[in-house]
Amino acid sequence: MTSHAHEFHPSTAVVALGRPDPEPDGPLNPPIVLSSTFRGSRTPEPGERVYARYSNPSWEPLESAIAALEGSETPGLAYASGMAAVSAALSLTPIGGVAVVPSASYNGTIGLARELEAEGALRLREVDPLDVDATVAALDGADLLWLESPTNPMLDVVEVPALARAARERGVTVVVDNTFSTPLRQRPLEVGADVVVHSATKFIAGHSDVLLGLAVMGDPELRARLAKRRTLQGGIPGPFEAWLALRGLRTMALRLDRSEETTGELARRLLDHPAVARVRYPGLPQDPNHERARAQLDGFGAVVSIELAGGAEAAEAFVDALRLFTPATSLGGVESLVERRRRHAAEPVEVPEALVRLSVGIEHVEDLWADLERALETFAG
Ligand SMILES: *Cc1c(COP(=O)(O)O)cnc(C)c1O
Repeated sequence: MTSHAHEFHPSTAVVALGRPDPEPDGPLNPPIVLSSTFRGSRTPEPGERVYARYSNPSWEPLESAIAALEGSETPGLAYASGMAAVSAALSLTPIGGVAVVPSASYNGTIGLARELEAEGALRLREVDPLDVDATVAALDGADLLWLESPTNPMLDVVEVPALARAARERGVTVVVDNTFSTPLRQRPLEVGADVVVHSATKFIAGHSDVLLGLAVMGDPELRARLAKRRTLQGGIPGPFEAWLALRGLRTMALRLDRSEETTGELARRLLDHPAVARVRYPGLPQDPNHERARAQLDGFGAVVSIELAGGAEAAEAFVDALRLFTPATSLGGVESLVERRRRHAAEPVEVPEALVRLSVGIEHVEDLWADLERALETFAG
């Protein structure tokens, strides 16, 4: 299987990785293997397949491809959803151990961490990772540090290299959720993270038609530990889902380049619109995190958040008036989505009522702008 990324540019690697070994008459794409079990030997050798919950030829091309993109020689692990990968990584905190998790993490992640704390499975220290000193102080005696950057939906850029270094110096395991940036824009393992997790549901699969999670780590022993746990807990993806995610990966560089360019353009135009009070996008020179984003990221992503000058009602009217942007949660697909985040009861109160998150797809920039401009005028007038 093709699994070396270093010899290629990332935009080539997404196309070339995870292909079957070249053989006469061999298929270009890995086959979807629909089999729950495998023909067995008298005494199974280590690495023999045995049963499709233990290992699966349909996951492996995706697992080797994501690892190579993140800069790891160790194959990744595919899970049934992003949250299954998050759950696996969070469980690296030993029973009764301390996990340092930003309050503004993905709502599923912080929700799970709070549940585990309530049950006594772990002790949770919630932090604001933008406060580097307070976060470093929280690492004393901790077991695990969770980071996510840019954050959702405020799009703040966190000091990942500095915090990862501080954690490693204290023997704290570092997990980074790289869903928003993808390995094409940020490679946390290179700055000291132990584990990277992805909701491949988003940019990697890219077509809003599949849920899947991925975890990548450099250490083969850590991989073996998590692989064993996945086998026993059973949170495995289906072969077709893994195939869809790999198929999505093939165009990720093209999709992300296009969506990101459009996002930057829309962000600049929104900044000048009188109905918009605030635009959050790390690519804007005016953004408070812009310099940090430039230092850490190879691109600023395809999500932008705006605050409507007219408050929550204006934000709802704006969402209702859009035609090309679909009102839906999620992000990273070819189709543009929009959501007033505070419509969710569980959304933290720190997120402004009038904040609307836009996930920018690959449609033509002028069609997207026309939709936004018309919707902004509808209720402003
Ligand atoms: C969506 C998301 C998840 C959860 O992934 P699912 O595939 O929905 O389970 C985790 N982290 C981030 C940053 C996400 O956006």
